Amino acid sequence: MTHVAVTGAGPVGTSVALALVKAGIDVTLFEQADSLPADPRAATLQPPTLEMLDGLGTGREIIAKGLKAAVFQFRDRATDSVIAEFDYGRLQGETPHPFALQCEQFKVADTNAQAIEALRPGTLRLATEVTGFTQDATGVNLQYRGPEGEGSLHADYLVGCDGGRSATRKGLGVAFEGFTYEERFLVLTTPYDFFQRGFQVRNYVLDPSQWCALFKVPHDGPPGLWRTVFPAPASDRGIDALSDKYVSEQLAGLEPTLGLADISHRNIYAVNQRVAAAFRKGRVFLAGDAAHVNNPLGGLGMNSGIHDAVNLAAKLVQSTAEPHQADALFDAYDAERRQIAKDYVQAQTIQNKKRLEAKTPEQRAAAKAELQGTCDDPARHKAWVMNASLLTGLRKLEETQRKAS
Ligand SMILES: Cc1cc2nc3c(=O)[nH]c(=O)nc-3n(C[C@H](O)[C@H](O)[C@H](O)COP(=O)(O)OP(=O)(O)OC[C@H]3O[C@@H](n4cnc5c(N)ncnc54)[C@H](O)[C@@H]3O)c2cc1C
Repeated sequence: MTHVAVTGAGPVGTSVALALVKAGIDVTLFEQADSLPADPRAATLQPPTLEMLDGLGTGREIIAKGLKAAVFQFRDRATDSVIAEFDYGRLQGETPHPFALQCEQFKVADTNAQAIEALRPGTLRLATEVTGFTQDATGVNLQYRGPEGEGSLHADYLVGCDGGRSATRKGLGVAFEGFTYEERFLVLTTPYDFFQRGFQVRNYVLDPSQWCALFKVPHDGPPGLWRTVFPAPASDRGIDALSDKYVSEQLAGLEPTLGLADISHRNIYAVNQRVAAAFRKGRVFLAGDAAHVNNPLGGLGMNSGIHDAVNLAAKLVQSTAEPHQADALFDAYDAERRQIAKDYVQAQTIQNKKRLEAKTPEQRAAAKAELQGTCDDPARHKAWVMNASLLTGLRKLEETQRKAS
């Protein structure tokens, strides 16, 4: 039986592993943490991702754990006014799920992990770090360190879903091409209810220096929490962006009644726009953040990673039935998913940030006019939501695959 080793039990690793286990493939899923990491990170699932989770059998449960976002709103911070609202309802007929779902990535990984363990207990090895690997024409030998000490495993394939700092990518010697933004992103979480101010579940606030992304997450159930993302200066600028002073300044411009006591969590992180030079080398693959990272504006990182997972798993499964096609299938994974990462995910997230931070009055006026004009035109409105939810690229790929088969 084919045996696939997967490194990292985030939303991407658990998706690959679940898809393979469901297809009867033997999987070992390594996670270095003692339990699935639950720090606040990605929280938006786009419609095509929900379709894929349906295919994995976890969609219904994940939807039940999330908050549906029917629209997303763009606002102007200076005038505190709504610029445009984009409606996922325009996707009616294009997808069974014409909404975005706010659901913390930990819950996605956890739901997948429980499904894996129900199907094949012992697949997930927690507290076990993959420490190295080598490969030859017959398979991959990997070394790990776990609760019982060091060990090794021979697998037919290795899938590195080990995040942005991926040791798998580094072990392959694959370049991570792109750039790091000078500024960092500050994430503040608050129970303050922004609905009372007319915000929607997902919002983007335009401002040249204090732009903001603001969205609701379900947390432990109603009433949920609100997460805000602000720009913060680079670490060498001598400003402590996690300090009470800096945090208060960000909040004051958004909602003057908010104080430090209203902040339940603060976190800061560096943001990269990078795509690996290859998603496959021999019998080793990269997926999710190990293969591509982007800013969180648009909620695409976790989604495109899960899309990698489902694409790759389908090809691994097909290769077991058609071994002579394996190389072509794996090259197709690399080509298809790298192209989408570059043409859609990187392009959109870079553009999303530029729009939010438009610097000059002319640039801001142009950004607002573009948003309003697109929103008011039914065809452009639908095309915009198709693109923002990653449906355009996926449907184009499906069409190409159909023609080729
Ligand atoms: C601080 C932070 C905040 C973020 N916020 C947002 C956001 O607000 N919105 C958004 O869209 N995206 C956000 N992202 C990005 C988003 O979280 C990722 O796109 C998503 O997590 C990708 O999932 P993944 O499964 O590929 O990787 P990860 O979720 O990073 O999972 C990788 C897993 O691999 C494990 N691992 C690593 N090395 C090894 C090893 N050697 N052996 C065994 N296990 C290993 C790790 O412990 C981890 O569990 C954020 C990322 C970070 C770092």
